[in-house]
Amino acid sequence: MAVLDSKVPKGPLAEKWSKHKNDIRLVNPANKRNIDVIVVGTGLAGASASATLAELGYNVKTFCYQDSPRRAHSIAAQGGVNAAKNYQGDGDSVYRLFYDTIKGGDYRSREANVHRLAEVSTNIIDQCVAQGVPFAREYGGLLDNRSFGGVQVSRTFYAKGQTGQQLLLGAYSAMNRQIQRGKIKSYTRHEMMDLVLVDGKARGIIARNLVTGEIERHGAHAVVLATGGYGNVFFLSTYCMGANVMAAWRAHRRGALFANPCFTQIHPTCIPVSGDHQSKLTLMSESLRNDGRIWVPKKLEDAQAIREGKLKPTQIAEEDRDYYLERRYPAFGNLVPRDVASRAAKERCDAGYGVNKTGEAVYLDFDSAIMRYGREKANTMGLKDADDKTVRELGEKIVEAKYGNLFQMYEKIVDENPYKTPMKIYPAVHYAMGGLWVDYNLMTTIPGCYAAGEANFSDHGANRLGASALMQGLADGYFVLPYTIGDYLAEDIQTGAIDTNSAAFDEAEKAVKEKLERLMKGSGQHSVDYYHKKLGKIMWNKCGMSRNAKELQEAIEEIAALRKDFYENVRVTGSADSKNQELEKAGRVADFLELGELFALDALNRNESCGGHFREEYQTEDGEALRDDESFRYVAAWEYKGEPKDAVLHKEELEYENIELKTRSYK
Ligand SMILES: Cc1cc2nc3c(=O)[nH]c(=O)nc-3n(C[C@H](O)[C@H](O)[C@H](O)COP(=O)(O)OP(=O)(O)OC[C@H]3O[C@@H](n4cnc5c(N)ncnc54)[C@H](O)[C@@H]3O)c2cc1C
Repeated sequence: MAVLDSKVPKGPLAEKWSKHKNDIRLVNPANKRNIDVIVVGTGLAGASASATLAELGYNVKTFCYQDSPRRAHSIAAQGGVNAAKNYQGDGDSVYRLFYDTIKGGDYRSREANVHRLAEVSTNIIDQCVAQGVPFAREYGGLLDNRSFGGVQVSRTFYAKGQTGQQLLLGAYSAMNRQIQRGKIKSYTRHEMMDLVLVDGKARGIIARNLVTGEIERHGAHAVVLATGGYGNVFFLSTYCMGANVMAAWRAHRRGALFANPCFTQIHPTCIPVSGDHQSKLTLMSESLRNDGRIWVPKKLEDAQAIREGKLKPTQIAEEDRDYYLERRYPAFGNLVPRDVASRAAKERCDAGYGVNKTGEAVYLDFDSAIMRYGREKANTMGLKDADDKTVRELGEKIVEAKYGNLFQMYEKIVDENPYKTPMKIYPAVHYAMGGLWVDYNLMTTIPGCYAAGEANFSDHGANRLGASALMQGLADGYFVLPYTIGDYLAEDIQTGAIDTNSAAFDEAEKAVKEKLERLMKGSGQHSVDYYHKKLGKIMWNKCGMSRNAKELQEAIEEIAALRKDFYENVRVTGSADSKNQELEKAGRVADFLELGELFALDALNRNESCGGHFREEYQTEDGEALRDDESFRYVAAWEYKGEPKDAVLHKEELEYENIELKTRSYK
C-alpha cells in the first residue's frame, strides 16, 4: 500500500513555504544542464512550468495533443485570476484569500497548500504584468479588480472576458523564448499514452504522434503531468471538446493514487442545454454575477406562461420576481459560491419555476445594472434630468465595455439580445477539483511523477471558487514546482540520460499497442460518441448536482456494463498506425469509462454533503449541504487494482490547526 505522506513542513503556517524553500535541496546550474524533464500539457500550468524549468536550466520536452500550446483549454478562461493584492483597499489580505478558499472548498483542502497559494498569488500578477498580459486597468492606470462568488472583496484581476487567453499568450511567449534557445523541445499533436516506470521511478512516457500514428518513446529524469481536468466524463460540459483524463488515468494505472474524483464543480451560469444534438456547453462567466441579478417568476402560472411563449420576462412586474439568491443569502446575494448558486437554481427549476421549454433555466438580468450605471454616467456628465432612454443607452455602453464579448457570444448562440431581455442560464459541469493525489511538493505517489494545475487534486477542496483555478495552475507552474522538483532531481545529477531501450520501455510500448489494437477490434455497432453520450447521461443523472446511495450504486453497475459493451461493440474506423481521430476519441472514452465508475464509488463512499458533492441523504432542513467532519474530513485517494470497483481507499486526514471548522454559511 502506498503511504500517504503529505510532506507538509513543520512550523507556523505562514512560514512553512519560506522555510521549506530554504530547507530543500538545490541543483546547481551546471548540473541542471544534465537533467531532462518531460512536461505533458502546455495549458497554463504546463506552459508556466516548462518555461520556468527551462529558464532555470533544465532540458525540457513538452507535449500537447493540440497543434499549438496556444489552443489549450486554458484559453477559454473568461472571468479572471485572484490575487491578494488589496489594490482596492477593501480589507483583502493573504489570510483572507486563504480563509475564503478553505471555506469555499467546504473545509476539504489542505491548509498548508492553500496558504502557500494565497502567498504566491501576488507574485503571479507581477509575473504576468512583466510578460505584458494586458490586465484591465482603472482610469488612473492601476490594475482593476472585480468580485467573484464566495468572497466579500474585489480581488479578481481580469482582461475583459478573455483572461485565460491573455495569460496563456504570456506563458506561451515565455515558452517560445525557451524553444528558440533550444531549452524546450516542443512536441505538439502528441498524446501521452502511458507513463514509464524504471525501478519504481517515473522515467519517461510513451506518446502517440497524432499526425502519423507512430508510437514514440521519450525518457526523462522526471515527468510533470499538467494535463487538465476530467469534466468531460459528463460528455456535456464547458470544457474544450478534447479535454480528457488519459494521462492522469494511465499514471493512476501505474500506481499514482487518484484523489476525490467525485469533487466536480457545476457552474451556475451556463447557457442551458438546447437538445440531444449538442456536444458542448458554453459558460457565461461568473464575472457577470457582479452585475447580473438571478431570478425566476414568483408565480407558477407566470413561469408556465413564459415556457409556453405567452409571456416575456420583461412583462413580469418587479414584485412578481423572485430574486431567490438575494432572498436566501442576503450577505452574499448573487455572489454566493458556485455550488450554492447551482443547487439553488436546480431547486427553483425542480419546483416548477424554470423559464425555458425544458423548465431548466433561470434568468440572469442586467436591467438594474444598466440603469444604475447609466444614471451614474448621466450624473457625471451633468445630465441630472436625463430620461430613461438616455440613461439606458449610457448604461448599456458601460455594460458593453465590461462584458461586451460575453454578451456577443450569448447573442450569437441564443439569438436573443441580452441588453434587452435577461439571459437564460442553467448549471453545467465546469471543473474537476479531484485529480492525481500530490504531496506538498506536487509529487504523486509515483516518485518523479508530478501533477500540476487542474490535473492534480488541487487546493480547492470540495468546491472551487471562481478565478482560483488560474491562480492555482500558475502558482504550481511558475512558483511551486520549479522549487520543489529540484529537491527530487538533486539525486539525479549523475544518472545520465535515461535509456529508452530498456525492458520497462519495451513493456509500456507493447501495452500501448495492445490497447490500441483492442480498441480497433470492436464489432462496429456503435460510434465512440454513442458511448460517451450514454456515459454522460448516467453521470449527469446519477452523479450530478445531487446524488443518493441507490442511484450511485446503479451508476457503478451501469458504467461497468457500458464499458464491457464498449470494448465489444465500438466502431473505430481507419487504422492505428496513421492519423485517426476516432481512435484518439476511443482511447479517451475508454479511460472515462473507468474514471466514471471510480467517481461514483467515491461519491458513494462519502456519506456526507460538502461543496459540489451533494448527497440527498445529508442535508439541513433548509436544503444546505451537511458535512460530517468527524468521519469524512479526509482526502479520499484511490489505488488502482484492476476494475475501478476494486480500487482501494487511502485516506489523508486533514488537519485544521489555523482555521476553525465551521458550518459554511453565506447568509
Ligand atoms: C469556459 C471556462 C472558463 C473558465 N474561466 C476561468 C476563470 O475565469 N478563472 C479561473 O481561475 N479558471 C477558469 N476556468 C478554469 C481554468 O480555465 C482551468 O482550470 C485551467 O485553465 C486548467 O489549466 P491546466 O493548465 O491545468 O489545463 P489545460 O489548460 O486543460 O491544459 C491541458 C493540457 O494538457 C494537454 N494534454 C492533456 N492530455 C494529454 C495527453 N494525454 N497527452 C499530451 N497532452 C495532453 C493538452 O493538450 C493541454 O495542453 C474556466 C474553465 C472553463 C471551461
